[in-house]
Amino acid sequence: MKTRVITLANQKGGVGKTTTTINLAACLANRNKEVLLIDLDPQCNATSGVGLTQEPGKSIYGALLGKDMLSSVVKTTRIKHLDVVPSELDLAGAEIDIARSDRYLHRFSDALAPITQADLYDFVLVDCPPSLGILTMNALSASDAILIPLQCEYYAMEGLTVMSRLIERIRDEGTNLRLELEGILMTMYDSRTSLASQVVEEVRRHFGTKVYKTVIPRNVRLSEAPSYGVPATEYDPRSSGAEAYRNFAKEFLKRRARDRRSDEATEEMNG
Ligand code: ADP
Ligand code: MG
Repeated sequence: MKTRVITLANQKGGVGKTTTTINLAACLANRNKEVLLIDLDPQCNATSGVGLTQEPGKSIYGALLGKDMLSSVVKTTRIKHLDVVPSELDLAGAEIDIARSDRYLHRFSDALAPITQADLYDFVLVDCPPSLGILTMNALSASDAILIPLQCEYYAMEGLTVMSRLIERIRDEGTNLRLELEGILMTMYDSRTSLASQVVEEVRRHFGTKVYKTVIPRNVRLSEAPSYGVPATEYDPRSSGAEAYRNFAKEFLKRRARDRRSDEATEEMNG
């Protein structure tokens, strides 16, 4: 087993980052994968979305500043195989402290290292704030890959261009040479509008197979679930949103298996 660290990021807010992190994490856990969800957003939506309350001093914050071991703030959840590192509001202020520290882009990576080295998890999923600030940059520096949730709306392509350039920069500047694009997930698809299908088509034209076949529909159950502190896949397993996330998790794992096989083949060829 080798832990794969995946950051869910997009500079825009309200595009489905947190919803995707929670529901993908839950679906992977339901498929017996060991999952650690890390909430890196001071708004704590992922923390409350899995039924945890924020406790000052018991979050990712201390670990980022080198005060706590990350493992000491890991919480179990009601979902088997799913652990969470909560966030807290004060994390917003931590950005300044982190920016002033040495290795300011690698704080999260340093904190996470003992966890990935212990190989306790199949996947670490990191939920990010809606900006490309220091917290998101820290997440990307520590990750094997970035997964981009993208809302089916008019300016989707522009946002993607920004994200692609950022990935290139992080690799070119040597901040994280192994960073890959895991995939693009189209969210909040409204089948009643032709705009949504046009947007999906355009994104596919540019990013091809990087765009998941599964598209997440607009579904009110997905927006109700967080106030009950459970993933939508538990809140209403039969809803279209829950079904879409289950399909997505299946596709996600299938693609991972395929990519792993092709990596192994390359390694073998290179001796
Ligand atoms: P982000 O983390 O990118 O800011 P969220 O996942 O919090 O985005 O989603 C923004 C809002 O939209 C939330 O209220 C969430 O419950 C709701 N939402 C997310 N995905 C969907 C969807 N597919 N259908 C309906 N509502 C959604
Ligand atoms: Mg969010």
